[in-house]
Order: sequence, then C-alpha cells, then structure tokens
Amino acid sequence: MTIIHTLGFPRMGAQRELKFALEGHWRGEIDAAELEAVGRQLRPRHWQAQRDAGLDFVSVGDFAYYDHVANHIQLLGCEPARFGFSGDEPALARYFTLARGVAREAGASGDGHPALEMTKWFDTNYHYLVPEFTPETAFSLADERLFAEVAEAQALGHPVKAVLLGPLSFLWLGKEKAAGFDRLGLLDKLLPVYGQILARLKAQGVQWVQIDEPVLGLDLAAAWQQAFEPAYARLATNGVPLLLATYFSPLQENLVLACRLPVAGLHVDGIRAAGEITSVADWLPAHKVLSLGIVDGRNVWRTDLDAALTRIRPLFDKRGQSLWLAPSCSLLHVPFSVAGEMKLDGELRGWLAFAVEKLDELQVLKQALAGDAAADGELAKSRQAIRARHASRRVNNPAVAERLAALPAAADRRHAAFPVRQAAQRKRLQLPLLPTTTIGSFPQTAEIRAARAAFKRGELSAADYETAMKKEIAHAVAVQEELGLDVLVHGEAERNDMVEYFGEQLAGFCFTGNGWVQSYGSRCVKPPIIYGDVSRPQPMTVDWSAYAQSLTPKPMKGMLTGPITILQWSFVRDDQPRSTTAAQIALAIRDEVCDLERAGIGIIQIDEPAIREGLPLRRAAWREYLAWATRAFRLSASGVADETQIHTHMCYSEFNDILPEIAAMDADVITIETSRSDMELLDAFGKFKYPNEIGPGVYDIHSPRVPNADDMARLLQKARETIPAGNLWVNPDCGLKTRGWPETVAALRHMVAAAKALRAV
Ligand code: GLN
Ligand code: ZN
Repeated sequence: MTIIHTLGFPRMGAQRELKFALEGHWRGEIDAAELEAVGRQLRPRHWQAQRDAGLDFVSVGDFAYYDHVANHIQLLGCEPARFGFSGDEPALARYFTLARGVAREAGASGDGHPALEMTKWFDTNYHYLVPEFTPETAFSLADERLFAEVAEAQALGHPVKAVLLGPLSFLWLGKEKAAGFDRLGLLDKLLPVYGQILARLKAQGVQWVQIDEPVLGLDLAAAWQQAFEPAYARLATNGVPLLLATYFSPLQENLVLACRLPVAGLHVDGIRAAGEITSVADWLPAHKVLSLGIVDGRNVWRTDLDAALTRIRPLFDKRGQSLWLAPSCSLLHVPFSVAGEMKLDGELRGWLAFAVEKLDELQVLKQALAGDAAADGELAKSRQAIRARHASRRVNNPAVAERLAALPAAADRRHAAFPVRQAAQRKRLQLPLLPTTTIGSFPQTAEIRAARAAFKRGELSAADYETAMKKEIAHAVAVQEELGLDVLVHGEAERNDMVEYFGEQLAGFCFTGNGWVQSYGSRCVKPPIIYGDVSRPQPMTVDWSAYAQSLTPKPMKGMLTGPITILQWSFVRDDQPRSTTAAQIALAIRDEVCDLERAGIGIIQIDEPAIREGLPLRRAAWREYLAWATRAFRLSASGVADETQIHTHMCYSEFNDILPEIAAMDADVITIETSRSDMELLDAFGKFKYPNEIGPGVYDIHSPRVPNADDMARLLQKARETIPAGNLWVNPDCGLKTRGWPETVAALRHMVAAAKALRAV
C-alpha cells in the first residue's frame, strides 16, 4: 500500500484551544503546568486525526507553543546572549521571553529585552521568530521537548515520523547580528548538534525524520548551494532515514542537487512545482522515496481527485511503493476542519477541504491506487463536488468575464500624464505647501467595537448602528478641523478590518465561522474565501464618505482597499490565474472609485500595503507578477477625471528594488512608512527621482509615545533634501486605529505644528 503522511498539522486546535490557553497563561490566569496540559491534550488529538485518515505515521515536532523556528532555537541551544538568561529560568518561560520580550522594569535603565524579530515564513501569512547569529553563537542539544513528544506519540502506539527544520534553512532564516560575518560559517558548529538529535531520534526508534529545507526553492547563492552536499553527507552517517522536504516553490537549478543529496527520500511540492515533477522522478534514484505533495496545503479547495490520480499513476507505475503521497506543504496554513462550518451554506461547504478533509483525501488516493473499491464512493462524491463548483452560477458571472474581455487597452491609464493632473488638482484643491493628512483610520475605541458586536448579534438595529458610526465620524471630522489638518478622513469607524469590510460587500466572497489560521503566536486570522467572479452589487463606502464630506468644507479623502491587498489576504480560487481574480477585484474597486468621485469626493486613497508581500519567492518571476499587480491597481484608479487625486498607501516594506513598478502605479500621491528608518527608506525614492507626490511617514504609529514637533520637523527637513518640496506631504506612518484618542490628538497637533514651521522657512 502507498504510504501517506503529512508534513505538519495545525497546532491551535479545532476550537483554537491553544490560543485561549496561551493568552490565559500570559495574563497569569493559568500556570505553565496547566498550559502544558492543554498541549498534552491537543497533540494526541491531532495525531489521532492523522491515524483516523489512515496515515502511515504521525508527524511529531510540528507542534509549538508559539512558533516552530523558536522551538529550534531552544532545541539547538542558541538562545541569544542578549536576553541574559541565568539558566535557572524554566525553558518555557525563556521561550516566551524570546517570543514576546520583557518590558523595562520601572526605574531600571535600558530597554528591557525586545522580543526576537518576527518575519514572514516564505510567502505565507505565518510569521516566525528570527534566530540571531553572531560569530560567538554556539550550539548544543539543549532541549528535551522534541524527544518527549516523540515518546508521547509512541506511548499511544503511533508510528512516528519526526519533523525537523534543516540546518541550512535554519541558518538561512536567521539574521547576522554582527558586522562582517557570514552565518553560513556557523554550519560546522551546528551539524554535530543535528547529528546528536538524529542519534537520539534513532535510539527512540522513530521510523523516519522529515528534515525541511524549503530554502532549496529560493534563489540561493553558490556558497549556500555548495554547503548542502557535505552537510547531508555528515548527517547521513546517523543511520536514521531522512526525508528531505521542499515546498512553496520550484527547485529549478537546485533540482539535481536535491535529487542527489545522500538522503533516503525527497518531498516535492506537486502544486507549486507541478511542472518539474517529471524531472524529479527522472533524477531521483529509484531506491529513494519520492514524496509527492499532491494535495494543496496552501488553499482551501477540495482536491480534484481524478486529476490527481491521473498525475500520480505514471509515477506510481514507475516507482511503486517508493512513491509516497502528502499535502504539498504543512497544513499549518489552512483551517482545521470544514465540519461544523455553520456559517456557510451546504453548496459552498461542499467545495472546501481544510486540514482534516485533506488528510481524508490522501486516504482516498491511497485506496484508489490499491484498487480498493472503498475509494469509489468518495471518488464519486469528489467528482460531483468538483463538477458542481465548476458549473455553479455562483462561481460564474458571465457579465464579469465579458467586461474584462471588453476593456479597452487604455483602461488602466489616467487621461492625462501626471504633470497635467498635478496642475488640475492644485487648482481644484488649493492645498498649502506640505499638506497634512492621515492614513485613514482613527482610534477603534471599545465603544465602536461594542456597537459593532451588538449590531452583529442583532441587539442593535441597523439604524442605531448607523447613528453610532455617524457620531464617531462627526467626532473625527471635528477633531481634524480643530487640529487644522488639510486633507481629512472619515476615520473608518465602520470597518472591522480593511479586507473583510470589502469582502463582505463584494459578490464572489464568503466567510467561514471558524476558518482560523495561525498568523503568529496565539494570533489567528480568518481570511475571506474568494470562490466566484467578483463584482460590486452596490456602493460600499459612498454614504459614509459623503456624510463625512457634508460636515466640512475641507477635502475629505475617500478610503478603499486595493485589489492586490484584498487578493493577498484572502484564500483565492484555484480555477483561474490570480491575475484574473485581481483584475476582477480591480474593476469592483474602480466602480467604487467612480461612485465616490460622482458623490463629490475629490481625493480617493486606495491602500496597497500587500503589494510587496505578493512578490514570488523566485526573482525571475517578479516581473510578471508586478506587471499584472500594478495593472490591477491602475485599473482600479483610472476611471476618474484628471482633477480627482488618487492616493495610495503602503507600509512595512522596502521598495528599493521595485521602485520603477511602484512609480508605474502612477498614484498621484503615495504615503509610505519611513519614520522608523529615519527617512532612510525615502532615499531610494529621491535617487530614483520618483516623479509623483509622496508622503513619507513622520511618526511611528506603533507606539503610544507622543512624538515632539521638533523631531518631526527634522525628519521633514531631511525629506525635503531628497524630494522636491512641492511634491511632499506630511502624514503619520500608517492608520491610527490601534491608538487612543488623547495620544492621537497630541501627536497630530505636533505634526501640524512641524508642517507649519517648515512652510515658514
Ligand atoms: N487606511 C488603513 C488605515 O488607516 C491603512 C491600513 C494599512 O496600511 N495597513 O487603517
Ligand atoms: Zn499602513
């Protein structure tokens, strides 16, 4: 029988039990032992789910109380010295200190210990804790958790495949904290510890060790590529079979290298690297296991099992029992189970497969390969669901396709070039030099959230909810007028989330009740699911913006989320290219932009903070992505007259390497996050001679600290040395929804003062 397995499983639990236990622990409501007890309940449940689906072993080592990379930092004994641990602290307490930092104690000097930096795990929305390396970094086998969990699974009678992050990916994902040193140089010190871990696992009797090296799907420098062979030659001496796991991206120039490494098996991503599976099957020696990731671990759709079998059969005929089946990557990136998904109607539910259902799909494939009639019923059901989805009127809206196909070539171009538009906008808007504005949201107070919750529960009528939100808008407008800001916003009080708010009003989107995915630590997100052609049945923001504009003679900036950000933060359909879905969303946003303009809104901001994170993992694929992504933005923005000013906003990103494409978005004004880099991020815009107007953030909105006017004036002065003064705007780094009102008012007052001071010189 074909062996089936999973690279990893969601950790949070069917009902996010781990999240609530963690937060209870951090609040001091439950102690470490109680938290560990929750872990001891969840792991066996998740293993049992794997066994119930007929998996040949359970995966152990994918569980984490915060993050699997942080687990490895402890396992490998390289907790950064800067935390100053004495060695007496319990491992779990140190772990949470690494993850969450410690605040400075009252009266003490220094900054306390900031947490490890967090960054995105490849191109997912999961964030890992970044290992820190210096020339002094030493490694040792320093943690027993992995071995204890293996023993736990074995005690339950499960055959075990242990999961480890490979040494090269571990080093690659970390960061050098000393100048002039290369972390790859630490490999020699690191490998003996991996050797000890493998020896321990072998002694425990684990069947296999899955060793993840996802960096093999990246553009690696030669030194990194060359390090693989000798490293794995050393690890191979430990005698436990290694399954080298790659995912998220094609192997390309690393394909032969991966196939030749002295390991017992290779896992490849049959979804993202579908095109190179045949080459892998050719290059991978026949005695090695080929684990094919045939079920999409990055998306929520039921697998087309017939199509999967068609792909699997030739490999199966050739390799027989040395072909294994698995999800493409860990199931960490999909929700737990469709069962109990009560918010969705039966039709939509039938199209979906979350982690538990994906395991079941593997079982059906296994049975089908064995010629087991038990698979027939499930195959028929799957066939039926796939057919129904493809044919559904809810998926296909011919008007959307027709509209896209009929778009004139210039649909993504404004009428006039920027200099002409700039003159028209200056005439219309009559703004002072260095105009002041904000990024959109004002504090989401407890009252706002309570009103929304009551409205959703049906305890507050639509009319009363509207009255409450209008009151918030009026308050935000009054505050901004009193502060003397030049371009006002309505404050986004009515929005829960910048994607969900739009998804809820667009056709083609649905929302689960329990489709949570871990983002970092205890934080989970519930991405919308785009299942069908996207259109906008009716205006989404016009009433709020028009109301806000009616309260003030100053220009009111309309506020929308852009097509790429909506795409990037949703689960996206797999039956058409992402670029097509992006274009559909773009047209829906375009309709909203045009309606705002018609309602008298002269400035419209289309937020695109996620443009950069959509970049493919391989650089060679950037150009194509940026071409359709920037076109989608322009499509959304180009329906308006020259004198209507389009803004965009982006944060948490560097743009140095994609500035031509950012400029090609052709927004009249772009606001970016720059204050934390002391305006350094702006230099590239200056050197590039960025043609349009730009608002570099002058203060960090992540901290409650109120910046003083002199600091902001200094930053502005710096900006003025890089960007022509006539093109410069004054604004914070990002929206203010996470801040309180008093600090917001104080900070903006200083910001307006700084702008005025600079106008005078
Ligand atoms: N307009 C949004 C806000 O101000 C932008 C949020 C973002 O950039 N992430 O909240
Ligand atoms: Zn932002």
